[in-house]
Amino acid sequence: MALMITDDCTACGACLDVCPNDAIIKGDPIYVINPNLCTECAGYFIESQCVSLCPVDAIIVNPAHVEAYMELLEKDRRIHAH
Ligand code: SF4
Repeated sequence: MALMITDDCTACGACLDVCPNDAIIKGDPIYVINPNLCTECAGYFIESQCVSLCPVDAIIVNPAHVEAYMELLEKDRRIHAH
């Protein structure tokens, strides 16, 4: 599944630089995760890096983007295929 950022976000910026896919965008007023780029960090880390760092627990599963682990790995391959 891709993740999403809730209204609890304080736009502190802690998550921006840790995403291996540049999936997090500085929105107004809160940050946003592009579901087409979020892989839950599959292939890079055991834990979702943004979730680990968010000080207000504002990053949750996006129910509109349910994907199995293998699908997330395939998405990661597509994102980084250049
Ligand atoms: Fe990026 Fe990983 Fe957070 Fe998804 S879970 S937005 S890939 S840091």
